[in-house]
Amino acid sequence: MSRTASYYDLRDALADPGCPVCRLMARSTERYLDGLLWESVNDPGVRDKLRQAQGFCHEHAWQLNRAGASLGVAILMHDVLGSVLGAMESARFQALPAESLRRAQESLDRSQPAAATADLVARLSAKAECPACIQVGQMEEIYLSTLNEQLLGEDGLLAAYEASDGLCLPHFRQTLACLRDEAVFQALLAAQRTLWARLVEHLSEFIRKNDARFRDEPWGDESDAWLRALGALTGARLDAGRA
Ligand SMILES: [Zn+2]
Ligand SMILES: [Zn+2]
Repeated sequence: MSRTASYYDLRDALADPGCPVCRLMARSTERYLDGLLWESVNDPGVRDKLRQAQGFCHEHAWQLNRAGASLGVAILMHDVLGSVLGAMESARFQALPAESLRRAQESLDRSQPAAATADLVARLSAKAECPACIQVGQMEEIYLSTLNEQLLGEDGLLAAYEASDGLCLPHFRQTLACLRDEAVFQALLAAQRTLWARLVEHLSEFIRKNDARFRDEPWGDESDAWLRALGALTGARLDAGRA
């Protein structure tokens, strides 16, 4: 079976700690943001998508706070913020008639959005998803389908998977959602159960050794189980540049 670049990426990532797909997504994000800053700041298509999205999501916006990024970020945000300001031009408070049904409903239920400001709220809402999320999401799908397709068989990823920390719960769920082969399902499920059963044992051991009666026992593999459990349930957190 011919192996794709994503197979080799996965095999390498499985040798490192934490969810391999989280790790590869962190790397994809780095590459995307670098490419954006160093090559695409003046690309009209990129600028347009960014205006539609009103910039980046919270996570990706703050990943742009990095060495050497200031000018590129300033140029991009100048454009986006200018467009946001443009959307606020000629905005007005669209007061409802005193006897209108909507006004009566709003006065009874304060959780309803105010109709008077709805037009401006809509204009200030993003029309497209964060472009970094779109790009990284495409890579995520490629890696998850590669894991499914290249798990079994000669040189398949199963052995590397069994020796790894496994997928995080969100990625495990996501890969199951596109899994249609029973043999792959059985293999992946068995591997994941073994990995998480061991993590649960490590957590028990961590808790036990925190008891004063066992304080003198040396720490083993369980010493960072609490961090691995956070990563297993929510996804690995890999700092920019160190992924
Ligand atoms: Zn993950
Ligand atoms: Zn994003």
